[in-house]
Amino acid sequence: MPQPKVTSMQRTLLIGLDGATFKVLDPLISQGQLPHLAELLSRGVRAELLSTPHPLTPPAWTTLMTGRLPGNHGIFDFLRSEIRPGGAFFTLNDFRDIRCETIWSIVSRAGGQITSLNFPLMAPPPKINGSIVPGLLSWRHLRRNVHPPELYDELKSLPGFSANEISWDFEHEKKAMQIIADDELESWVRFHVVREKHWFDITKHLMRNRPADLTAVMFDGVDKLQHSCWRFLDEAYLSENPSPLEQTMRELCLTYFRELDGFIGDLVTLAGDDARVFIASDHGFGPTETVLRINKWLESLGHLKWQTVDDQKPKAGHFVALDWERTIAYAPSGATNGIHIRVARQPGEVGVPIEEYSQFRDRLGEQLRELKHPDRRAAGKRSDDLRASLSRGRTRSGTRSYVGAVRPRVLLGARLRTDDLAAPSSGGDPCSGRNLCCPWTRNSSGQDVAATIDSGCCRHAVIQSWSPDSRGL
Ligand SMILES: [Zn+2]
Repeated sequence: MPQPKVTSMQRTLLIGLDGATFKVLDPLISQGQLPHLAELLSRGVRAELLSTPHPLTPPAWTTLMTGRLPGNHGIFDFLRSEIRPGGAFFTLNDFRDIRCETIWSIVSRAGGQITSLNFPLMAPPPKINGSIVPGLLSWRHLRRNVHPPELYDELKSLPGFSANEISWDFEHEKKAMQIIADDELESWVRFHVVREKHWFDITKHLMRNRPADLTAVMFDGVDKLQHSCWRFLDEAYLSENPSPLEQTMRELCLTYFRELDGFIGDLVTLAGDDARVFIASDHGFGPTETVLRINKWLESLGHLKWQTVDDQKPKAGHFVALDWERTIAYAPSGATNGIHIRVARQPGEVGVPIEEYSQFRDRLGEQLRELKHPDRRAAGKRSDDLRASLSRGRTRSGTRSYVGAVRPRVLLGARLRTDDLAAPSSGGDPCSGRNLCCPWTRNSSGQDVAATIDSGCCRHAVIQSWSPDSRGL
């Protein structure tokens, strides 16, 4: 059947701000720091978007791109896991793991032109009418994952173009989940100021030279800054007598947001008066006060077993070190923000028998809801229980997932050998209160829910086990 053409489609600009929250933006707007955003808000409408039930970057942006929930599109996490006889294999999700059509191909199929820049999971890129430069991708794989292929050399000829600086450097990005030493904070923020400028230049170039019906660009530095610099952004954490470091970092963070605001203003101008403009974030953000070690909790319920070597548990929270013959529920990483339940489809397979799956999942949900914080004060003084919400579905590999999103200021951590619930320590723990970082969202019942961050497991296993070449990227 012939597809309708979108010749009458109004030109549309979509600007993604990863992790942006009105909690940070509103005070900056009222101080006059973000005039372009203020102007847009004054002549548009604003609202809090619902994120996905577990407000995490890959599922949330995929939901924005597909209009479907994770249970439908199959992206629950940065990773997907396959447990085979040789052990557990964890791979970063990519475009092939998305089970629903994206807005890029929907518009393209209807005859429209697309520009999609820096969105996650866009490699290998779909063959749409227009341009795709994927985000969250190593610079090593950028050239062969740009669509159309000749676009890479065109972008390379732009003054100042740097594949390194627009790409995802795993060593570098790990910092977003860790405490960054005070003397590195400044260069961390400056890096993102430069990085956003690169994406802005690419967007501007394509809007001028390859105009599209739908131009979409995602700026991810908002998320990165908030992970490590929340204390300089949230006025509740600003000191009355700021130290030189606080003064410098506060000013640098403001510089980042002012630059970003300028990019937004220029892109809106470039799109023209008749263009529709949308600005969206994938989840909110907020400070962290408590860490829930989810794998330790699952171990206490008997659902998870660690491998032992000479009667010793592994020293670090290393999910590859799970005993896969005896583990039926686990969190692969802190960032997972959920619990994967293994389902046994055949007799002899390890996991919950498929006919008992729903009951097992619901019971686990109840147990999570019943968890009591040992210290009411640390629980945020509002409630002493941990709320959970459910999201269900299957990934491409068929894993069924239970996902629990817990109340604000609580992180789910996947590390080993710590208390089930603990105040985030300062010092060696990447979930430190010093980071004060945590993606948040509000669920459909109006409750704030928080995502999970504990890079301990990612650091040890995800990076090591990811092998893009083995999948022909
Ligand atoms: Zn995000």
